[in-house]
Formats: sequence, structure tokens, C-alpha cells
Amino acid sequence: MRLGALEAGGTKMVCAVGDETGKIFEQISLPTQTPEITVPKMIEYFKNAQVEALGIACFGPIDPDKSSASYGYITSTPKLAWADYNIVGEFEKALGCPVGFDTDVNGSVLGEVTFGQAKGKKCAMYITIGTGVGAGVFIEGKLLHGMLHPEAGHVFIQKRENDTYAGRCPYHKNCLEGHAAGPAIEERWGKKAIELKDKEEVWDLEAYYIAQALCGYILTLSPEIIILGGGVMHQEQLFPMIRNYVKEMLNGYIKTEEMEHIENYIVPASLHDDQGIMGCLELARKAKEE
Ligand code: ADP
Ligand code: ZN
Repeated sequence: MRLGALEAGGTKMVCAVGDETGKIFEQISLPTQTPEITVPKMIEYFKNAQVEALGIACFGPIDPDKSSASYGYITSTPKLAWADYNIVGEFEKALGCPVGFDTDVNGSVLGEVTFGQAKGKKCAMYITIGTGVGAGVFIEGKLLHGMLHPEAGHVFIQKRENDTYAGRCPYHKNCLEGHAAGPAIEERWGKKAIELKDKEEVWDLEAYYIAQALCGYILTLSPEIIILGGGVMHQEQLFPMIRNYVKEMLNGYIKTEEMEHIENYIVPASLHDDQGIMGCLELARKAKEE
């Protein structure tokens, strides 16, 4: 099966062709400009590739509810050129093939569940800590949407007493994204995150905030694995720090195999940063099957 995959991000659009086994044959990346400029280029790419179905994992907020009038739309995004844009409709019309659609982070968790380390899990989470913070949730065999879709990057955190940084989320004073996404790190410490590598206090505070959010997810959703990706998680020293804080904060309350071996529970992505594109292939395969 020749399947198309589109990982639609706020800065770049990754388009790929692959198959139902997760094999990627070819891939290109285009800067995200306006729909008028960028979409025709992507349509041409997928037309030439003769894909039988397309899977789109998209920045949001989006409407993934098939029974809704605005299904397939990017909705209230701050990227104004893309607000209220019917991305699924455009591709369906131009390609005449089935199109699967979900959030970018649901795409990533689907990639890990279908082809990666989360295979066989009933409940898994993928959290990206990058320009923003987002979480994809696979639960009881399905991607979680609920009322809209999870926006778990905006869960509230408790500030450390001596942290005077105001946060940079325009909606919430003390949410995870506002305090722990890459741009927040850079604004708080006045330097590129990558240049702060050796500053212990930077990553200690970062781990402290991420761990609070993870405890909330663990207590509400009971995931069997938590995968952390995105640019900030390239700071690998964060992993042991986050695991230690999670153990400390949960204080022995959750007694499971996973907690015993937390090094296998809170883990980096396993698919060489292809989890998103591979998830799109699975979205495409499912769309074709349906
Ligand atoms: P996006 O979220 O836009 O898809 P990324 O996941 O690459 O992109 O996240 C970009 C953010 O991650 C930037 O704010 C940057 O500061 C941060 N970042 C990128 N690489 C690193 C790194 N090696 N260490 C720490 N932070 C990083
Ligand atoms: Zn927020």
C-alpha cells in the first residue's frame, strides 16, 4: 500500500510516502507559510506519489470529531492564516482518497503504539516539550479525543517559591507550557536552552515542573508508558531528574511494576524522531480500512 503522511507543524510541514508496515520510502520538508502557498505544494507532492490514502497529524487546536460540522478543520490557532481552515477537506478534494486526521501528538503516540516501544500497551502517552507542550493519549485501544482533544500541556503547576518568572502562556499564569516549553526556558534564563546545558539549576527546575504534570497524568489516566520527546528533551540529563521527582512526589502511593522500573516507564521516543510520520502512516491505513 502506498500511503501518504503529513506531519503538519507550526514551523514546518513534513510530507512522506511509506507503507502500512511503517516503512518510509521518501520524505520532504516545507516551511509552514500560508495555506495558499504551502498546501498546493503538498498536494502536488502527494499526487505525484500516487498515494492511496493520507494521514495528517496536525498542530492545533483542531476538530477531530467526525460528527461535527467543522470536522477536519484547524480551529482557533494563533497561526491566523490557518485558523478555521478545512485542511482535511482540501486534501480529500484534491487527492480523492481517504484522509485520516488527528493532533500532532496523537500521531506520535500512535506511531509508538503501532511500531515502537509502546506496542501492546493499552494506555500510553506521548508528551512533547518543544516550542509548546502537548500530550497525545492512547487509551483502551483508541486515541483519546473526548470533548475536544487533550490539551495537557496547559495543566497547572505549583511554582517553586524562589521562581519569580511570570510564565509566557497568554491564557494561564502557572501552566506547564508557560513555564517549561523551550521559549519559557530561554526567557527565564536569558539564553538559548542548548547553551544552558551545564546549568544544573535550569534542568532541576525544568524536571520539577514536568514531574508535577506527569504525576497528574499518572493519577488520572494510569498510562502504562510515558514517552517524552521534543527539542527540550534532547537534554537527556532531564530523564533521571524527572523520574526522581515523580517518585518523590507520588511518595510511594502507586505501587506497580512500572513504578518499580521507572527507567522503563518514563522514556525517550524510540523511533529516531519518525514516530510522528509513522503515526500518520497508521492514520492513513486506518482511513483506508474505514
Ligand atoms: P517544535 O516544538 O516547534 O516542533 P522542537 O520540538 O524542536 O520543535 O522544539 C523547539 C524548542 O526546543 C526550542 O524552543 C528550543 O529552545 C528547544 N530545543 C531544541 N533543541 C534543544 C536542545 N538540544 N536542548 C534544549 N532545548 C532544545
Ligand atoms: Zn497555558
